[in-house]
Amino acid sequence: MVSTDINIKKSKAFDVAEIRKKFPVLERKVKGRDLVYFDNAATAQKPQVVIDALVRYYHQYNANIHRGIHSLAEEATAAFEATRDTVKEFINARHREEIIFTRGVTEGINLVAATYGRQHIKEGDEIIITGMEHHSNIVPWQLVCEEKKAVLKIIPVDDNGDLVMDDFEKLITPKTKIVSIVHASNSLGTINPVKEIIEIAHRHNIVVLVDGAQSSVHLEIDVQDMDCDFFVISSHKVYGPTGVGVLYGKKELLEAMPPYMGGGEMIKEVTFEKTTYNDLPYKFEAGTPNIADTVAFKAALDFVNETGKENIRRHEEALTKYAMEQLSAIEGVRLIGTSKHKTSVVSFIVDGAHPQDMGILLDNYGIAVRTGHHCCQPLMNRFEIPGTVRASFAMYNTKEEVDELVKGVGKAIKMLK
Ligand code: PMP
Repeated sequence: MVSTDINIKKSKAFDVAEIRKKFPVLERKVKGRDLVYFDNAATAQKPQVVIDALVRYYHQYNANIHRGIHSLAEEATAAFEATRDTVKEFINARHREEIIFTRGVTEGINLVAATYGRQHIKEGDEIIITGMEHHSNIVPWQLVCEEKKAVLKIIPVDDNGDLVMDDFEKLITPKTKIVSIVHASNSLGTINPVKEIIEIAHRHNIVVLVDGAQSSVHLEIDVQDMDCDFFVISSHKVYGPTGVGVLYGKKELLEAMPPYMGGGEMIKEVTFEKTTYNDLPYKFEAGTPNIADTVAFKAALDFVNETGKENIRRHEEALTKYAMEQLSAIEGVRLIGTSKHKTSVVSFIVDGAHPQDMGILLDNYGIAVRTGHHCCQPLMNRFEIPGTVRASFAMYNTKEEVDELVKGVGKAIKMLK
């Protein structure tokens, strides 16, 4: 099932049929049908080049990094550090030491909350997030608020799934210390006006963390232009392996922050009386990191760069528009998240059908969607729904696959009546 085209002009640079050949999992069958993988916002599939990079590391140069002087250790260190340089370019950071490897977005936010947050938040202070945050950008701040007796404030979300920006500045007081916002919502697809939010926050001397879990794969990221203080990424959403992520932080902020975890690599000198800490980025990279997956993450970023983010974005935008038109034409289907600025996420509910039941029926047709609250329970409460059915598109998805989804939803509705 390979698309030739939709409303997309076929260019030499982007041919979805060619792209699909690079993702081995797309060849498999599910329940006897061609797999239609529409759960990309949860995790993207991996191209062969990423799998090859992972295997090559274990086959040829598995070694611990930084401290070894033998050849394998040097090769492994060079490959690991090469990923840091590629990430630096990918998000246009000013310095390579501003790139800290983590396990993912969740760890990145927890790191900032537990270090910068605990260092700067005092009793009565305020942290602002939005009403569309993933639990991983809610709970770490609640932990800080609980410990410090601080207050969490929420920028509301309107019926289209856009932030009510007029309310944002009203929430700011002299006690506001941190704003932490999602760049693109995993449940709605909404792309938030992060530059505007950052500019307003900075006028009040407030630091801003941007959750780039969903945006980093779809949008051009330029942290210098955005001027965010922190930005977090998960490799597995950008066609890379699981278990690796990035925390970008402005150098002067990272330097002033206490370490997150103690252990090997993050130290300069240890005595029983006192320990001095390593320079950036190593101060925040205690212990043996996930070397293999970090090395393979570079292959994923190279792959995205070679395919071209603009090509990918145009393809996904066309698929999203088509899916929204087709799905909303089905009687009983209501789209949740109709912002004008969206990534390739289409969330919907069906009258009289629980999202879970829809998900199970769609799986019977080989279609993988995500159902439920998408780790955004407060957002689901805001829309007064238990959850949604979410189809999220990646570079390898096709118009024909969207047609399969639309057919599947129609059939499922009939069965559930
Ligand atoms: N924030 C958003 C917006 C997300 O979509 C996700 C993943 N669903 C996360 C945070 C957490 O990412 P991870 O599980 O990779 O740490």
